[in-house]
Amino acid sequence: MSKPHLVLRDVHRHYGQGDKVIRVLEAANLTVQSGELVALVAPSGAGKSTLLHLSGLLESPQGGEIEIIGIPTSKLGDRGRTQLRRSTVGYVYQFHHLLPEFTALENVSMPQLIAGVSPADADKRSMELLDLLGVGPRASHRPAELSGGEQQRIAIARAAANHPKVILADEPTGNLDPETSDIVFGALANLIKNEGAAALIATHNHDLARRADRVVTLKGGLVVDHIL
Ligand code: ADP
Repeated sequence: MSKPHLVLRDVHRHYGQGDKVIRVLEAANLTVQSGELVALVAPSGAGKSTLLHLSGLLESPQGGEIEIIGIPTSKLGDRGRTQLRRSTVGYVYQFHHLLPEFTALENVSMPQLIAGVSPADADKRSMELLDLLGVGPRASHRPAELSGGEQQRIAIARAAANHPKVILADEPTGNLDPETSDIVFGALANLIKNEGAAALIATHNHDLARRADRVVTLKGGLVVDHIL
């Protein structure tokens, strides 16, 4: 049975003070279930990154509640938020941010080692993820020896390494050509179904967004369903 892994309830987020206030989110609501892939499509400046940062507990709303796997976060302190983020959220950026001096496999194993997983178990999990994403044969290569699409799939494997319940991706294919974008998005979608994570993916690419379970946009400070 699907479970809500990410819930935003009446979330408010504004920036600035006095008459220079930018109201990005006003009573925004969103629920993403386990195994569900939601695409977020909205113009630049609409608040996509803000929504992702809030969902990933990287910033706090001025009002409302954000729940990750049923845990309300508004009353958590910095340490509690960091702990919950580390144990439940995986983040994929537009640029891969892989460590250049380490192989693909080591890049994916690193967050697991930091979390206390044994090297043997970490490498086993990394290899499974790299295979699932179609880059298993590239495991021993360093980022500079890989194509953009391969680098991004390794960044996705790294984000998924510690079994996150929520995967957030900010324009994960924004830097790739259309054909490669298609491959990377397909690999990401496959991973989300396989892992039963809840995914929120900001993208400008309407063709890719159509492949999501649901498409939402931002309007008047609300998250609303979007028909492409
Ligand atoms: P998007 O990701 O859709 O391009 P953002 O979430 O980055 O949009 O930004 C939404 C709005 O909030 C923009 O008008 C942006 O300038 C403003 N904004 C974002 N972050 C900050 C910040 N730290 N301080 C002030 N304004 C910000």
